[in-house]
Amino acid sequence: MKASGFHYARPSSVEEACALLAEYGGDARILAGGQSMFATLNLRLSAPALLIDINRIESLKGIVVAEDGSYVRIGALVRHAETAASIEVARHLPLIAMAMRHVAHPAVRNRGTTCGSLALADPSAEMPACAVTLDALLILQSRDGGVRQVPAVDYFFGLYETARRDDEMLVEVLYPSCLEDEVCGFDELSRRHGDFAMVGVAARASFNEGVISNLRLTTFATDPRPILSEAAAALAEGQAWSEALGEAVAEAAVAELNPDENHFGSPAVKRLQARAMIRRVLSSTFNVPRQPAATIGVTHG
Ligand SMILES: Cc1cc2nc3c(=O)[nH]c(=O)nc-3n(C[C@H](O)[C@H](O)[C@H](O)COP(=O)(O)OP(=O)(O)OC[C@H]3O[C@@H](n4cnc5c(N)ncnc54)[C@H](O)[C@@H]3O)c2cc1C
Repeated sequence: MKASGFHYARPSSVEEACALLAEYGGDARILAGGQSMFATLNLRLSAPALLIDINRIESLKGIVVAEDGSYVRIGALVRHAETAASIEVARHLPLIAMAMRHVAHPAVRNRGTTCGSLALADPSAEMPACAVTLDALLILQSRDGGVRQVPAVDYFFGLYETARRDDEMLVEVLYPSCLEDEVCGFDELSRRHGDFAMVGVAARASFNEGVISNLRLTTFATDPRPILSEAAAALAEGQAWSEALGEAVAEAAVAELNPDENHFGSPAVKRLQARAMIRRVLSSTFNVPRQPAATIGVTHG
């Protein structure tokens, strides 16, 4: 099948792109890497009147570390491959570096954008779960509303549903940098390496002298959006790591999931998989001796 007819625009600024989004109401779509967009167009799951190709907007390019090192900015045109290869990402955002190893295959990573993944909000995708775990800020811009910042925990509503309005584009995402005393872990179960996850887990916590605090544990691909576990954080706060704690945290986090039945299995199977995956990620996060940040991404996961 081929896509329905559409108009095509290639603006050179974010303002121009936002003006087009406003003009077309809900009938225009941003085109970034096209890796998800062209499949939905060709299958006629989507038939927008206008595609707004943002690939020539210079200001959307680049990974930038704040002068004081406190956060990393990833622009809307940064491809997965660039994120995966970035030394700054490995150094300041080891969780993203770990997760990137699971995102798609080289051909998709060469064009698909890290922000496109956040904009699309596929529940089985790695980047939304990492954004929630890292407490990222998504920067949205529109002609009429200007710029607004939305914390990742408030951004993902459900299956392909987010806080982004039709007239807004995602211009960048800001990730707080990993602190000296922080550890993180990531793993997922998928049919083949690089496929979307069947169940995945991302974790980040402070870990001082063997004591855990501020645990952020996110399970994804089970529910229509990434689920950050409040019970896990409460159980782990101030505790020393042990496999028994991992077991208790996994049980509490799984109780907060509400998995759908789909071709990957029943809710009961997904709960079992999630429980095993949470234990595994916690164990690798808290049992592994601290690595220099730049190498964590290749030793975990
Ligand atoms: C075979 C295959 C395997 C894949 N496997 C994985 C995987 O394992 N894990 C994973 O996470 N992803 C996977 N993907 C998806 C891939 O990561 C996509 O690149 C990503 O989901 C979308 O990024 P994109 O830049 O290609 O966006 P596009 O396809 O251009 O756009 C996707 C959607 O997001 C919107 N959009 C994009 N950018 C913006 C923006 N800046 N502002 C507002 N809206 C925007 C578009 O309008 C569109 O609705 C896979 C894709 C394919 C084809």
